Amino acid sequence: MKQVMIVTGGARGIGAATALQAGAQGYAVCVNYLHHRDAADAVVSSIAAKGGVAMAVQADVAVEREVIALFERVDAAWGSVTALVNNAGILEKQSRVEDMDVERIRRILAVNVMGSFLCSREAVRRMSTRHGGIGGGIVNVSSRASRLGSPGEYVDYAASKAAVDTLTLGLAKEVAAEGIRVNAVCPGVIYTDIHASGGEPQRVDRVKEAIPMKRGGQPDEVARAILWLLSEESSYTTGAFIDVSGGR
Ligand code: NAP
Repeated sequence: MKQVMIVTGGARGIGAATALQAGAQGYAVCVNYLHHRDAADAVVSSIAAKGGVAMAVQADVAVEREVIALFERVDAAWGSVTALVNNAGILEKQSRVEDMDVERIRRILAVNVMGSFLCSREAVRRMSTRHGGIGGGIVNVSSRASRLGSPGEYVDYAASKAAVDTLTLGLAKEVAAEGIRVNAVCPGVIYTDIHASGGEPQRVDRVKEAIPMKRGGQPDEVARAILWLLSEESSYTTGAFIDVSGGR
């Protein structure tokens, strides 16, 4: 059976690492991106250079019609998606809650929460045996922040990831008898561009001494957990969370 994966935010960071590993494992991979077309194309070219199958598709996961169009592009190219990685996520400048404006909070919730809901909905409509599908897997990229809270930095982001955790728990139970497993990974601090959006590109190196393993993580280390959760190796695992956080 052909395995078809959509990785949201697959152009950079954890999403790119996931797309590359999936391509090497034989998935046809849709690399979704928002702005960085060159980065998405580079991931696609790298997969193709190793004999894999991939395409880049632009879509804002927070916009319903764009999410629907993303899934329809995949339907047309390869048939129904069998694996969804809800990876696209944003944070904004480090700030206390009392200094956050409404538009910032709205953006965080729209991308991190609404984006995960909309993509999950489209995936379930295609995967569920209830709708004539053959099943599949969904992995949500949450964060250790959902349980640490990120005080003084981004409580809005942490709260959005707590919503992703509850989406994981509830959806896992809702579709467990319909051939779909829903799980999450909770990365700690990983070397990617996201910390620059928070206003501190070197944040991983600043906080790494507080991590029991005394180092930040690499995107590939998160991607391996994601690929495991989507594989048959984890066939009895649903509604589960894997911390990829060096013990923190
Ligand atoms: P990143 O390097 O900043 O990459 C984010 C990716 O998401 C980019 O490819 C970006 O697209 C895409 N994206 C952003 N907004 C989007 C939207 N509205 N629609 C579609 N795609 C969108 O981030 P990362 O660190 O790899 O983060 C990936 C996930 O891991 C996020 O959910 C993040 O919260 C989570 N996480 C990261 C860490 C960490 O320390 N890095 C820790 C815990 C959790 P463009 O390339 O086109 O801009």
